[in-house]
Amino acid sequence: MEKKEILTLSAIELAENIREQKVTSEEAVRAVFENIDEHECKIHAYLDFWKEESLKKAREIDEMLANRAYSETALNPGNSEAEGLADPGEELPPLLGVPVAVKDNLMLSGRKMTCGSKMLQDYIAPYSATCIEKLEKAGAVIIGKTNMDEFGMGASTEHSFFGATLNPKDTNRVPGGSSGGSAAAVAYGGAFAALGTDTGGSIRQPAAFCGLVGLRPTYGSVSRHGLTSFASSMDVAGPVTRGTRDAAALFNIVTGPDEKDQTSISAPKVDLSKMESYDLTGKRIAVPKQLISGGSIENREAIDRTSEFLKNNGATVDLIDMPLLDYAVAIYYILSSAEASANLSRYDGIRYGYRASGAEDITELYRKTRSEGFGTEVKRRILLGNYVLSSEHFNDCYRQAERARDMLKKAFADVFSKYDMILCPTAPGVAPLLHEIDKDPLSAYIADLCTVPASLCGLPAVSLPFARKEADSARKEEDTADPSAKALPVGIQLIGPRFGEQEILGAARFLEKGGQKR
Ligand code: GLN
Repeated sequence: MEKKEILTLSAIELAENIREQKVTSEEAVRAVFENIDEHECKIHAYLDFWKEESLKKAREIDEMLANRAYSETALNPGNSEAEGLADPGEELPPLLGVPVAVKDNLMLSGRKMTCGSKMLQDYIAPYSATCIEKLEKAGAVIIGKTNMDEFGMGASTEHSFFGATLNPKDTNRVPGGSSGGSAAAVAYGGAFAALGTDTGGSIRQPAAFCGLVGLRPTYGSVSRHGLTSFASSMDVAGPVTRGTRDAAALFNIVTGPDEKDQTSISAPKVDLSKMESYDLTGKRIAVPKQLISGGSIENREAIDRTSEFLKNNGATVDLIDMPLLDYAVAIYYILSSAEASANLSRYDGIRYGYRASGAEDITELYRKTRSEGFGTEVKRRILLGNYVLSSEHFNDCYRQAERARDMLKKAFADVFSKYDMILCPTAPGVAPLLHEIDKDPLSAYIADLCTVPASLCGLPAVSLPFARKEADSARKEEDTADPSAKALPVGIQLIGPRFGEQEILGAARFLEKGGQKR
């Protein structure tokens, strides 16, 4: 198969072609590295990648497939006691030979894990995150670690100590964040799929800005073991992919309870064939008016047209009032910063990472290490977190925010007693220009309005691209304003009740097939 043709395949189509030996894993890995060679110097999606090792692993897979004498031992050297796959009759792992990238706040044993921070610039992961182990067990070839906002704090991937990532759809713009590297890599064909992490929207928002699908799974359904903590009550890893079927397949691989994470739970897997036959007839969909007011014209249009499409296919779509959503951003930033300030206290120059030189005593060592090791946005969160946790403000800030979070959870439970899912934009507009949101942190926080509610309530949510092209060609003649912004992707979001992945991915697939881009 030609390189071009290989790159049009989805991750699961590629896996199928590799299994059937129509394409080799080596060809697929070579194809993504050709793209990396071409685009990486401009886009900077990766913090690290390993071409030769990836090609070696791919060749091993191809060889194993060729003589059907592959074994788990060869796939995972050093794991000889694991269940063997040597039996030629045994089912092959679902992502065998597929090149996948992972965000750099997930541990991959023996590789650097920087979290986009100077604090961890030389840190080598001593073990692998459970979700990465699962990906490897599923046969994926992990090819590199992707760039991110420092410790996941940000919405543009401009807050990386190692420099910003650019949006492959328009290099004057940000790819979103904090999983901007994962999204950019998938968008330019530098990986067939990627893992990101989502605390307050960091999978969904970059997926939206780069024209991809991003799934935030139900909180706890993916183990956090090996995911560097930002706000532990909201952190979750999940897929950034080109289509909904890939997102479902990756979710199925990484989900599952894990004894190394006490908050992990067993969640139902997504049935891809049910997803394919999803029927909208009789489905009830709610659009909270608080999440659509103030958005851009493009977003308004995306929601209006999607609502129309859903109605035309048998669903009811109601505009609903959820007044508590007006407080979601405030609740999120109080709670996530409080948790972040506690989680980041471990970076003290003694136990982990960077240590400042020239300190006279231990207090000065802490101060110098943390002053030099953390970037501005991280310091802002630590200050905010310490403020809301201080004895003076604990009751009126932190406690109140916790109560408000409980109320918001109840409000969502109430909505889901009447509706199957919620439809809203993923972000207030298209990808901002570089440095645009850097200038004013508060407006960057406010722009998280549509993603933080699902995070606070542990709900699954998927962002998928709205078919701008169709809408654009429909009004191409009369509309000549800003052609660069016109071509940019717009994300729409479906939020479901806990464990509602099947429902929201089913509906997302329906939308994808009916006029949405793959
Ligand atoms: N923009 C959000 C924040 O800065 C999202 C973070 C995330 O999901 N990691 O907190």
